[in-house]
Amino acid sequence: MSEFLDQDIKFLPGVGPQRAEMLKKELKIFTFNDLLYYFPYKYIDRTKFYRISEITGNMPYIQLKGSIVRFETTGEGVRQRLIAHFRDESGVMELLWFQGVKWVKENVKAGVEYIVFGKPTIFSGKVNIVHPELEPAENKQISAGVFQAYYNTSEKMKQKFMTSKALNKFQFNLSAQIEGKIFETLPPSLISKLKLMPLPVALRQVHFPENPHLLKNALFRLKFEELFYIQLRILSLKHNREGSFKGFIFSKVGYNLNTFFSNHLPFELTNAQKKVVKEIRKDMGSGKQMNRLLQGDVGSGKTLVALMTALIAFDNGFQVSLMAPTEILANQHYNSIKKMTDGLGINVALLTGSTKKAKRTVIHEQLEDGSLQLLIGTHALIEDKVNFQKLGLVIVDEQHRFGVAQRAKLWKKNEFTPPHVLVMTATPIPRTLAMTVYGDLDVSVIDELPPGRKPIQTLHYYENRRKQVYDFIREQVTVGRQIYIVYPLIKESEKLDLKNVENGYDLLKQVFPRYSISMVHGKMKPAEKDAEMQLFKEGKTQIMVATTVIEVGVDVPNASVMIIESSERFGLSQLHQLRGRVGRGAEQSYCLLMSSYKISNESRKRLETMVRTNDGFEIAEVDMQLRGPGDLEGTQQSGIGFTLKIANLGRDGEILQHARNQASDLLDEDPKLQKQENQILVYHLLKMKNTEFNWSSIS
Ligand code: ADP
Ligand code: MG
Repeated sequence: MSEFLDQDIKFLPGVGPQRAEMLKKELKIFTFNDLLYYFPYKYIDRTKFYRISEITGNMPYIQLKGSIVRFETTGEGVRQRLIAHFRDESGVMELLWFQGVKWVKENVKAGVEYIVFGKPTIFSGKVNIVHPELEPAENKQISAGVFQAYYNTSEKMKQKFMTSKALNKFQFNLSAQIEGKIFETLPPSLISKLKLMPLPVALRQVHFPENPHLLKNALFRLKFEELFYIQLRILSLKHNREGSFKGFIFSKVGYNLNTFFSNHLPFELTNAQKKVVKEIRKDMGSGKQMNRLLQGDVGSGKTLVALMTALIAFDNGFQVSLMAPTEILANQHYNSIKKMTDGLGINVALLTGSTKKAKRTVIHEQLEDGSLQLLIGTHALIEDKVNFQKLGLVIVDEQHRFGVAQRAKLWKKNEFTPPHVLVMTATPIPRTLAMTVYGDLDVSVIDELPPGRKPIQTLHYYENRRKQVYDFIREQVTVGRQIYIVYPLIKESEKLDLKNVENGYDLLKQVFPRYSISMVHGKMKPAEKDAEMQLFKEGKTQIMVATTVIEVGVDVPNASVMIIESSERFGLSQLHQLRGRVGRGAEQSYCLLMSSYKISNESRKRLETMVRTNDGFEIAEVDMQLRGPGDLEGTQQSGIGFTLKIANLGRDGEILQHARNQASDLLDEDPKLQKQENQILVYHLLKMKNTEFNWSSIS
C-alpha cells in the first residue's frame, strides 16, 4: 500500500475532522485506503427515466425528471410534514417529507428542474414518494455512470446528512487523486492466466461503473482476490503443518476392530459409515498426522464411527480420548461405548467435573502407566494434570461447542508427535463456509441416515391449539412413546429461563397428573441431571421437560415427540438439533413447533423451513441467507473474524471454489512461496496475519 493511501481520512477533500470522526466511529473508515475498500452494497440503473403516468403499484426505486410546482406544509411540531407538488409532462404527484423539513425548504426550489429518485407508493389513489433524493438536473457529474453505487451508512450518519450520496462524493474526491497510486496485489502470471481486471481499474469500476460488463469483471476480480488470500493462508498453514509434523502410523487392524466388527456390531453399517471409516483408516495409516472433520446430520451415526476409529488406535497400541461438550453427553457416550465394547477387554473411564478425587487419582495413574485405553469426558480432559502415556487419537464430539484454544490443548498432550484428531459436528455447515472455517481440515461426510428411519413430521401450532397438542401427547404416551418438551433459553435472564421451565413443569403435572415427568435444566447439579436423564432413558418417566441443555447428542430412541415451546425464539440450527433428538427409532416421530401469533418475518421463515424440510444442509443454507455467515453457529468460536468486505459466502460459492483451486495449484508449484513473483503474496499474507485474522495451527 502506498503512503498516500495510508493518510488519515480527515485529509480527504470534503471530509474534515468532524466527518472523519463519524466515519471512524460508525464505519471504521480510518484511512483513504479504508474508504477505497468500503464497497457499495447495491447499484441502481440511473439511465432510465420514468414518467409519472407510468407509475404503478409495487415499483422498485425509480427515477423521474420534472419540477416542483408548489410546497405545502401541514401539521405542527413533530407532526409537521412537507408536501411538494411535482410535475412532469405526463402528470402530477406528491413528494413527502416528515423529517428534515427545514433543510428541504431552504435548499430545494420550486420551478427548477430536478431528478427525483425514490420508491413510489400509491396511497388512496395518489402517487407519492416519501423522502426522495433530489438532484438538480443540470448537475449530474457524480451519477454519470450507468449504475449508481449505494453505500450503507448508519442512522447517526444520516442525521448529519452523511448519506450514501455523501459517501459517493467522498469516493469521487478520492478517485480524482488516486491515479498511479494503487499497486497490484496479485502476481502478474495469475492476472494474465485468469484474465483478471487490473486492481486500479477494478477499484474504479466498483465505485463508478461505466457499464454492466465492466462492473461484473470488477466485482469478480475483487471477490476472487479476497477469497484467494484466505484460501492461500489456510492451505499454506496446512502444508506447513503437514511438513513439520509427522503422524503416528496406525498400520494394523487387529483384534479389537475385527472382534467388534464380527461379534459386537449391533447393526449393519450404512454405506456412508463404511466410506468414512475407510477414509479415516487410510489417513491414519499414511504417516501424516490426521486432522479430519466428520460432518453428519443428527442421527447419522457418528458415535459408531468414532468408536471404530478408537478401536484402530487400540489395535496399534495407543490411547484415545473422547471429549464431549456436556456431562450428559459424556455420560451417554461412556455408557453406550461400555455396552458396545463389553467383553472386548478395553479399559474405559469417564472423567468429568464431578468425578470424585479418589477416582480421579486412579484415572491419572492409569493414564500414565498406559493401562487406561479410552478416556471419555468433558473439558476436564484438557487439564494439565491429565497426562497420557501414549495418546494416539483425540476425538472431539460436537466440536462447534469448543473453542480453538481448547482443542489446541488436547493437541499438545504429547511431547513430540501430536495425536490424530477427529472432530465431529452435527451442525451442518454449508460447503462454502466449511471451506473457509475448517479449510485446513480434511472433511468426511456421512450423507446417509441408517435405514428404516421415517422422516420426522414437523408441524407449526399457534397457542390456540394447545389443547390438541395435549390430546396428542396423551395419545402418544398411551401407545408407549415418550415426549420431550423444550423451553427456550432466555439470554437476558437466567432466572426467567428457569422460571419458564419450572412453570411448564408445574403446568404439565396438572394437565397430566398420572404421568411421570422428568426435568433437566442448566441450574441443576450434574448428578441430578444425569439421574433425571437416566430415568427418561429407561422409560420410567414419560415426559422430559428441559431447556436446550438436551440440544446436543442425547439419544433416546423411544422418544418420538419433540415439542418446542416459543419456537420463534430459537435459531434454525438449534431447532434442527432439537428435532434430531427424535426420529431415532422405528416409529413415526413428530416435532411440534409452538409459537405465539405475533412473530417476525424472519421467525416465520425459520418455522416454515423446519416444516418444509428435514435436510440439515438445506437448513444451513437458509440459515446462512437469513443471518449471514458471521452469525452462523460455529463460526464465532472458530477464531476467524468474518470480515469479508466484498465476497459473500452465501452467494459466491463458485468463486470461492475457483479461488481455492488456484491457491492450491499455486502452492503445488511453489510450496514455500519462494519464487520472486510470488513475494507479493508473502507480503500480503503477512499483512493479513498482523491484522484481521487470528488463526491457530488447528482451526
Ligand atoms: P449422531 O450422528 O447424531 O451422533 P448417533 O451416533 O447418536 O448419531 O446415532 C444415532 C442412533 O442411530 C443411535 O441410536 C445409534 O445406535 C443408531 N445407529 C448408528 N448407526 C446405525 C446403523 N448403521 N444402523 C442402524 N442404527 C444405527
Ligand atoms: Mg452425536
